[in-house]
Amino acid sequence: MMHSQLFPKTLKEASRDAVAANHKLLVRGGFMDQLMAGSWTLLPLGWRVVGKINNIIRAEMNATGGQELALPLLHSKEIWNETGRWESAADIMYTLKDSREREYALSFTHEEIIMDLIRKHVSSYKDLPIKIYQFSTKFRQELRATGGILRGREFLMKDMYSAHESEEDLMAYYEEVKQAYLKIFARLGLEVIVTEASGGVFTDKHTHEFQVLAESGEDTIYYCSECKQGQNKEVLSVAEGDKCPWCSLGKVVVGKSIEVGNIFPLGTKYATDMKAFFTDKNGKQQPFWFGSYGIGPTRVLGTLVEVHHDEKGILWPKEVAPFAAHLVGLKDAGEVYEELQSAGIEVLYDDSDRSAGEKFADADLLGIPVRLVVSAKTGDKIEWKDRNSDETRLMTRPEVVSALSTI
Ligand code: ATP
Ligand code: MG
Repeated sequence: MMHSQLFPKTLKEASRDAVAANHKLLVRGGFMDQLMAGSWTLLPLGWRVVGKINNIIRAEMNATGGQELALPLLHSKEIWNETGRWESAADIMYTLKDSREREYALSFTHEEIIMDLIRKHVSSYKDLPIKIYQFSTKFRQELRATGGILRGREFLMKDMYSAHESEEDLMAYYEEVKQAYLKIFARLGLEVIVTEASGGVFTDKHTHEFQVLAESGEDTIYYCSECKQGQNKEVLSVAEGDKCPWCSLGKVVVGKSIEVGNIFPLGTKYATDMKAFFTDKNGKQQPFWFGSYGIGPTRVLGTLVEVHHDEKGILWPKEVAPFAAHLVGLKDAGEVYEELQSAGIEVLYDDSDRSAGEKFADADLLGIPVRLVVSAKTGDKIEWKDRNSDETRLMTRPEVVSALSTI
């Protein structure tokens, strides 16, 4: 991608009400734009990062046997009435009427919609388990949509749902998804604490949240810094300073955090409410055992910036960076750009006629892991600098191509 073609260009300032680092840096960098409170456009750079986040999530969901689909976002009142959530989730759902006064909700989650699919298409234990997921928009009436893209009124969620013939099978898969989530967050460059939590409108049982420590977080967790397990303050059974009840090595400490994922063992409530039954091995009718598993890719985008930035800008982890290298031409570097492109390396080429200072400031702000400079001084070599270091070194073109190809 050439800088001259990139839409839009970077901004000198974010809006005055921007407090969170993700709000300031993603807006200034041209990754996202705010339409109104809680409502964000993902600009081409931001969409590239979200695409990479989604690809990591998709690969790990597929590895557990998940199949991707796409569900509708406009739902009838009737389906939400089947579980009583038209009433009990009224505070969170956006509802609307059509010109004939029929009532609808915009999707805030999809358990009911999935359970409807399962009761229509699955009748025997032989067809179980079912593991299906989507990436789609969720709409929620968030009263305080602050913190940049961390809390949207409209946001992206990967939501997976599974149906099983027994509690044992559900819980075995629940554990497998928990492990898959740990892999996902490790690949995303986020250190997470697995936290016991309540289920909100979903269930009375404990659920598990995946929390990232950050001062800008809205959650408070009690956790062990040794084993990275914890409890949300809603379900607290430990106190600050206690010996860790999980690993007994560390002590319980308190921290602010951002919830990036949440998994829910939902039992048979949804199937019972919605009369969704299958025939078991003995010919008996049984309700499906159900679980749901969410991650918010747009919240992950914001969280990555909260934990990976300095005073100059963003520091993207390699796997999610919008480009592998930022080529800064202080003289024409078109040939180098072509060579990197044809080697299959994702590169942003600053071909503008701005000053070196402006170009370097942009490179720091955008946070692409490697900066390459071609100038009168570098001769036929290229200057390589990692975003997270001040050291530079001169390398030949083949050395640069091979170093970037192995990343
Ligand atoms: P919170 O407690 O932060 O309001 P939640 O517990 O209601 O979130 P879940 O229903 O568990 O959210 O949703 C699953 C995931 O979707 C969350 O872990 C988070 O990553 C993401 N998410 C939830 N609400 C929002 C939001 N308003 N904006 C962006 N992402 C969100
Ligand atoms: Mg949650």
